[in-house]
Amino acid sequence: MAGTLQGKVAMVTGAATGIGAACARALAREGAVVACTSLPTDPTQSVADQITAAGGRAIVKSLNVTDPEACQRVVEEIAAELGGLHILLNNAGITDDGLFMRMKPESWRKVLAVNLDGAFNVTQPAVKVMVKQREGRIISISSVVGLMGNPGQANYSASKAGIIGLTKSLARELGSRNITANAIAPGYIQTPMTDKLNEEQKKALLANLAIPRLGTPDDIAGVVLFLAGPDGAYVTGEVINVSGGLYM
Ligand code: NAD
Repeated sequence: MAGTLQGKVAMVTGAATGIGAACARALAREGAVVACTSLPTDPTQSVADQITAAGGRAIVKSLNVTDPEACQRVVEEIAAELGGLHILLNNAGITDDGLFMRMKPESWRKVLAVNLDGAFNVTQPAVKVMVKQREGRIISISSVVGLMGNPGQANYSASKAGIIGLTKSLARELGSRNITANAIAPGYIQTPMTDKLNEEQKKALLANLAIPRLGTPDDIAGVVLFLAGPDGAYVTGEVINVSGGLYM
């Protein structure tokens, strides 16, 4: 497949559904070979099948990002099987909402473990590969609530703010190695994660948007392609809001 990412290897975490699946398909459309990783119970194979049916190349690996040894092993396997790792998309994420006064420590830890520790677990072995290659793009999915907070989401907002700090530090440490690190802060995107919102919540939400619709996973995928491709070469340490004006 011809495209701006021809010859590149991309790894996506949480690639089975929503934003991760759309980004995996988009990266493959641009010519990258895509390693789709997600929980063993996720329908990840169907995303890889869609990529293959469209003429792209993809492999599937089961990966729970909370398991550091598995992250190291899977990153090494991907780099060995596909000939490197040029683009990492840290996308796996969960919510477990509740008002802070009543938030259980387990709920705090669970969300931080997937959303922030998970990014650490995958990014560290990936960076080792990228430093040796002298090339890499690290893109992590944060959230506007990491910038603006949200009642009922102290755990999630903290994890997404953590992604921003991680991204900026990586950008400073790795720029001289030809590795960029950026975050994307989506607003409300129509995925299984936001399907949990009821109609009333969705209506209230739309009232705060400059562009009065929920975003689509492809709205995010377009920005991932920019950051992963040649046009994004001099962009690092950035947080790009894709929120329809929810946050500006
Ligand atoms: P989603 O639930 O469809 O996708 C999340 C994926 O991560 C799922 O496939 C899930 O199985 C996987 N996952 C969960 N725990 C995992 C683990 N321990 N290891 C590996 N994979 C795991 O929801 P989405 O909206 O596509 O979310 C993707 C990312 O975008 C998340 O980081 C989310 O926080 C972020 N985000 C989403 C929105 C939105 O409105 N949908 C807004 C801002 C940020």
